[in-house]
Amino acid sequence: MRRKLIVGNWKMNGSLAMNAELLSGIREGLAGIDCDLAICVPFPYLPQCQAALEGTDVALGAQDVSAHAVGAYTGQISTRMLLDFGCKYVIVGHSERREYCNESDELVANKVQRALAGGLTPIVCVGESLYDKEEGRTAEVVGRQINTVLSVLEEREVCDIVVAYEPVWAIGTGKTPSPLAVEEVHAMLREQMIRKNPDAIECVRILYGGSMKPGNAEELLHMPDIDGGLIGGAALKASDFLAIARQA
Ligand code: 13P
Repeated sequence: MRRKLIVGNWKMNGSLAMNAELLSGIREGLAGIDCDLAICVPFPYLPQCQAALEGTDVALGAQDVSAHAVGAYTGQISTRMLLDFGCKYVIVGHSERREYCNESDELVANKVQRALAGGLTPIVCVGESLYDKEEGRTAEVVGRQINTVLSVLEEREVCDIVVAYEPVWAIGTGKTPSPLAVEEVHAMLREQMIRKNPDAIECVRILYGGSMKPGNAEELLHMPDIDGGLIGGAALKASDFLAIARQA
């Protein structure tokens, strides 16, 4: 049985004061939650979040990592640095980085490799644009994105990643695909991973992301191949984030 995982992606939001309130809200509301929880926060706030989450089971993560190990890469952040601040996860290939930072499938695959080599669990994001969806190309686009990552992994490494399916048109828009439509894509993603490593049927968690809220989480999280959520906007309010986790 795959244990559900709910991850908050704070994106470029927060301040020391806002985070303090959000973090104490999370700490105080953890009773009765029976899934894995993590938050992926902006780099400068990692020490604040690490200190605030100490003694809880809430894991910490970052939102990006360099494809390089160390050296003359101004502005980049290494796996080593993330480990120094207690990170377990790192989001790789979020559509906002693919779009605004021109991250290619190949660069995303290199970052996944680097994250694994550095001992972090990459949360690999895939998802189609509205245009792709309207052209009926969801399976093709998402399939290409995951296959580029799989092509650089050893068979055993397939079990060390988390995948997040985030249709670009559902992010921050209040629109979500039907649970059945999400399930179909997740099943297809799992199929691709099983081809590389049959254990993927049990070992890989596939999260859904895109306008997941307390009001729509339950039906999504009950689909057989939806193993959790990658939450944007609703992760900025402790009560909403925890309400989603309570349904997992
Ligand atoms: P929203 O939940 O705000 O739609 O964002 C989803 C997302 O991009 C998480 O990575």
